[in-house]
Amino acid sequence: MSDATVCVTYDFDAVSAWTANEMPGYHSWGVYGAEVAAPRLLELHDRLDVPATWFVPGHTAESFPEACGDVWDRGHEIQHHGWSHRSLPSFETRAAERRDIERGIEAIRDLTGRRPRGFRTPDGGFSEHTVDLLVDLGFEWDSSGTAHDFRPYRLRRSPETPVDDPYRRGEPTDIVEVPCVWHRDDWMQLFPVVSGPEWVAYSEEPAVFERWSTELNWLADHDPGGVYVLLLHPQCAGRAPFLEHLEVFLSELRGRDDIEFAEVGEVAAASSADAVLSVAVRRDSSAVGGYESDALPPSAAASWSPTAASSVGSLR
Ligand SMILES: [Zn+2]
Repeated sequence: MSDATVCVTYDFDAVSAWTANEMPGYHSWGVYGAEVAAPRLLELHDRLDVPATWFVPGHTAESFPEACGDVWDRGHEIQHHGWSHRSLPSFETRAAERRDIERGIEAIRDLTGRRPRGFRTPDGGFSEHTVDLLVDLGFEWDSSGTAHDFRPYRLRRSPETPVDDPYRRGEPTDIVEVPCVWHRDDWMQLFPVVSGPEWVAYSEEPAVFERWSTELNWLADHDPGGVYVLLLHPQCAGRAPFLEHLEVFLSELRGRDDIEFAEVGEVAAASSADAVLSVAVRRDSSAVGGYESDALPPSAAASWSPTAASSVGSLR
């Protein structure tokens, strides 16, 4: 058993990230991501033999079918990231949100011949309807939440946040959440966006990768068996300084026998197959300071391995 499973994920937003902005210069960042950066990243993954999960908006699948087809043809997992890449809480009605998700399902089915079973919300936000829609539409896992940094848990429906009452977490669903924390997101730290001072986020690549390495080593030492999801965007990760650091980072991990790579769908399938997720997991744990946690206990998570996952079957 490895001490950590690393899932490299790409949110292939391309131009869908910029449709709310009319300036062509913004759109060209998205074109660059699809036509220049994505091929570079695919070449890197081929060379290092590292699998990846690509979350593809339907807008990207239909705007750049060749680039998306290349992702699929090279054997990477493709999953759902909305059709329009609109923030889900911004839809006026439940029906409108459902139409966007259904259109995204059709776009991926046209691209891959398979219905997507995994989901990542475009901007981290869920509306009050999103979890119910994901259940209704047959999704089996999600990778948007941040309630744990290393352990899959079960997505809950309809949490409530009254301002004058305690937080109510909602009832767990059968959907496995493979958490994806924002401080492992390249865009949040490295992409210079000039629409407002609160969005100017520009760090130095060495500092970012040093932090990511430290966190992964901490996981291997202190929470062995956990899952480490990296969230990258081609239009950010495919640029020269970052790409160089990414190659060093992935090469080092490839050489470690305590680290395994997997697609998110493999991790979710192995987690959902575990009996411990068939009931609500609520435990008191000194590891999380006595708070109740939905996280898959280490004994169950430790059963995860690429070999076991392949026997469960791919979700893509
Ligand atoms: Zn996105």
